[in-house]
Amino acid sequence: MAFCRYCGKPIPDAAPTCSHCGGVQAVQSQSARAGKSKLNFTPVSTLFCVLASLVLYLSEESVDQDMINFLIGIAAIGIVCGIICVKIEEKKDRAANIVFILASILLLITALARGA
Ligand SMILES: [Zn+2]
Repeated sequence: MAFCRYCGKPIPDAAPTCSHCGGVQAVQSQSARAGKSKLNFTPVSTLFCVLASLVLYLSEESVDQDMINFLIGIAAIGIVCGIICVKIEEKKDRAANIVFILASILLLITALARGA
C-alpha cells in the first residue's frame, strides 16, 4: 500500500495515478525502482581492500613494484570515491562508506610499507 504524494490518501503500490485526486505517481515509483535496482559495490570493494592488504602484509616474497603501484592507485581512487559517496549518499549508507574509506587507507598504508 502506497499513499498519494498529493492528497495523501492510500492507493495501490503500482497505481500510476491517484484514484482520489488524479495526481500522477510515476516519478515516485520510478525513483523507488531505481533505488532498489541500484547495485551496491561498497561491501565488495571493502572486502577487496581488506584482502589485498592482508595478502600484501602476509606475503613473504617480494611483491612486484608494478603491483604495489597498482594497489596504491586502487587505494587512492577508493579513498576519493568513498569520500564523495559519504557526501552524496543517504545517511543509512554512510557507515558502509566510512568502513570502505578505512579499508582503502589500510590498503594504501600496507602497499606503501611494502613498496618502501
Ligand atoms: Zn491523491
